[in-house]
Amino acid sequence: MKNKGILFVVSGPSGAGKTTLYKKAISVLPHLMHSVSYTTRSPRVGEVNGRDYTFINREEFMTMIHKKEFAEWAEMHGELYGTARKMLEEIMNSGVDAILDIDVQGAMQLKEKLPGGVYIFILPPSLEILRERLEQRMANVKEEIEKRLAVALGEMKKYLEYDYVIVNSIFEDAFKELESIIIANRARVEQISSEWIKENFFK
Ligand code: 5GP
Repeated sequence: MKNKGILFVVSGPSGAGKTTLYKKAISVLPHLMHSVSYTTRSPRVGEVNGRDYTFINREEFMTMIHKKEFAEWAEMHGELYGTARKMLEEIMNSGVDAILDIDVQGAMQLKEKLPGGVYIFILPPSLEILRERLEQRMANVKEEIEKRLAVALGEMKKYLEYDYVIVNSIFEDAFKELESIIIANRARVEQISSEWIKENFFK
C-alpha cells in the first residue's frame, strides 16, 4: 500500500532534547526505525554499541569514507559521525520509515541527495535553558560548555533550511508536534502506491 519508507531527519543543538524525542517516537510509533550512526567518539555511560551508535576508530571510519559507505558524514567536536548508506537503504526499502539524529552539516548533505526527506529542527526554549541543560550533562566542564554553545548557535542559524521547527519547551508538547509531523507526512499523496490504488479500485 505504501511506497518506500520516508526519511525523517532530526537536527538541533546538543541539549535541545532531540535524542529523547526521537527515542520516544520510535517506542510509540510503528514502522519507524532509527538508523544507527557510526562514530569515533567513546561510548558514554549507558550507551550500547550497535544500539546507540556503532563505535569504531578513526582508521575504520576513514576506510568507510573511502569505500563510499556513508550516505553522509561530518566532524563534530573533533569526532567523526556518519550514517551508513546500507542500513538506511535497508530500512527504507523495506517500507519502514527511518529517523536520523544528525548534525546540520550531515542533514544538508542528505537534503541534496534525498530532497524527498522530511527535515525537522529542534530548538531549546532559550539560550539560558540550553546552557543549563549542557551544564547538567557535562558536569560543569566550563570550557567545553562554552565551545558547545558556540557550535549550537552556529547550527541554530541554519533552521530555515528545515521543513519544520519544534521548540522543545515542554517535552510532551514537543513530542506531540514530532508525532504529528510523522503522521501527517505518512498521509502525503506521494506515499501511497499507485499500484495499490489501481489494484483495489480500478482493476
Ligand atoms: P553526541 O556525541 O552528543 O551523541 O552527538 C553529537 C552530534 O553528532 C549531535 O548533534 C548528533 O546529532 C550528531 N550526529 C550523530 N550521529 C550523526 C551522524 O551519523 N551524522 C552526522 N552528520 N551527525 C551525527
